[in-house]
Amino acid sequence: MDIPVVIDAKKGKEAAKLLYNSFSTTGIHGKTEMPEDLIPAGIKKGSIEHIIFLTLTVAIDYQRDAPSLWESSRKTFNDPKTNYLFNPKLLSEASFEKVANDMQKYKLSKKPDKDARIWQTIGTTFYKKWRGNPINFLENCRWDALNILKCLETDSHLYNEEIVPDYPYLRGPKIGPLWLRMLKDNAGITLLRNLDKVPIPVDIHVARATLAIGIVRGSVKTKLDKLFEYIRKAWFESVKGLNIRNRQMIALDLDEPLWHLSKYGCSKRDKTTNSCPVFNKCEMKELCIKGKIYINNNIVDLET
Ligand code: SF4
Repeated sequence: MDIPVVIDAKKGKEAAKLLYNSFSTTGIHGKTEMPEDLIPAGIKKGSIEHIIFLTLTVAIDYQRDAPSLWESSRKTFNDPKTNYLFNPKLLSEASFEKVANDMQKYKLSKKPDKDARIWQTIGTTFYKKWRGNPINFLENCRWDALNILKCLETDSHLYNEEIVPDYPYLRGPKIGPLWLRMLKDNAGITLLRNLDKVPIPVDIHVARATLAIGIVRGSVKTKLDKLFEYIRKAWFESVKGLNIRNRQMIALDLDEPLWHLSKYGCSKRDKTTNSCPVFNKCEMKELCIKGKIYINNNIVDLET
């Protein structure tokens, strides 16, 4: 069903430039660091350990506070008793009960059984299919971002006579693109191709910021995730023809700035007056839109 909203790609271009320039200089709301940016002690950026840390942690980055998730993951990594959770071989050999138990030590799991199942399944897949190294998987996909997303979505195995996905949650429409963005930005993997065709990973923050600066507008009350496809399309269209640092801008470049804009700004917008307490200091205030943007329990009430 079509939702009565419009995409303003002209304004989106202006916003994309401003978001990118602010985030790569002074920051958005003064911040330039993402929760996943801090690397656990003793590992090198882009090493297999780092890539596994990013891969397993991002897989359970759903419906929870990202800064506390990444903090819990670093603590779990740094504790010699729980560090095995980041070793695909040891992880696959451990009992499910032990994994579920140890993931609770630093509150790494929020939903103990579900998160442990996701974590151990993905770790076991990388151990059994890719010799414990996600790079082998990327290479097998010829470093093609679209192929990687397709394999994440479709690859599966038999477990207790049931077909089970190889990459639960990592294969999702938000987390798959988010993983690719982290492999590029955090692990520094430069071989990935076709990243320009990867949609922006839309979560509540990216959605809220996109609505607050009026790149998607309308009068509608609907489930928030019904707007996600419009938000993905809006940023694909907005970055077309824009260049940064001698390369084409891609929608993924705007994930971090939009996340910051909402996390430290738009999410504080008053529910009744729609005024924003950080308006005067906001890097995007010239583009901020008046009107109602009320999001609660995955329902958005929009009058913009
Ligand atoms: S002024 Fe507030 S609501 Fe508007 S874009 Fe900035 S942070 Fe978001």
